[in-house]
Amino acid sequence: MSEPLLRATQLTKRFGGLAAVNDVSLDLFRGRIHAVIGPNGAGKSTLTNLLSGDLPPTTGRIELGGRDVTGRKPERISRAGLGRSYQKTNIFLPFTVWENVRLAAQSRAPRAAHWLARATSFADTNARAERALELAGLAPRRDMVAGAISHGEQRQLEIAMTLATEPSVLLLDEPLAGMGTVEAERMVALLQRLKVEHAVLLVEHDMDAVFALADRLTVMVNGQVIASGEPAQVRADENVQAAYLGE
Ligand code: ADP
Ligand code: MG
Repeated sequence: MSEPLLRATQLTKRFGGLAAVNDVSLDLFRGRIHAVIGPNGAGKSTLTNLLSGDLPPTTGRIELGGRDVTGRKPERISRAGLGRSYQKTNIFLPFTVWENVRLAAQSRAPRAAHWLARATSFADTNARAERALELAGLAPRRDMVAGAISHGEQRQLEIAMTLATEPSVLLLDEPLAGMGTVEAERMVALLQRLKVEHAVLLVEHDMDAVFALADRLTVMVNGQVIASGEPAQVRADENVQAAYLGE
């Protein structure tokens, strides 16, 4: 098997006496979706915040593309190839879909002083934004104001904005939240397309989507991994049945 794009080793995050994430290890590979499920408070969001650098781990190690990035700032981790979507918070509602994606693409452009380098990076930024828009399935909405597209399309836009920075690893925290059936199906199809070129960590409550998408499944309860492996095996695990899926 190839090297993981992201490797987390024995991550622990304590908030006072509470171990929100307790000794969690996982590897993410290109072409695979690794789903993380668990009841509320299990530590799923804290885990994504550790991987993105938004929170420093208490102990443990995070490698991106073979390089140790533990304790690095989110901007550094983002530049090293990790993309995460922040639910709607960085969409500018009065701007068009294209302008939002273009701005996200620009946030990653190098600050070159020379006019030739700037011209090259201008074309490159446009090309990256164009690819992201296309991959996220939003090309038909490009000239609409972001505030006027549907909730599901806004979630697609968040993903397009993340893609515009050309990450190799994508962290998605509940991308199907609040979606109706049609929107959810469209998002599942989008995630299938994304995994071809990316390593994906998917935190999601929608079990139909999880079992349709996941190549690997980790179950967390109270900060700890209680099962991890092939989705079918994890589903059959007695501890998982008792703790979560059996409810
Ligand atoms: P999940 O996403 O699985 O619902 P979280 O990662 O949000 O779980 O939370 C895991 C646990 O950590 C919860 O008990 C939560 O209250 C606690 N927690 C999360 N963030 C903080 C924080 N910044 N300070 C203190 N406790 C936190
Ligand atoms: Mg959460």
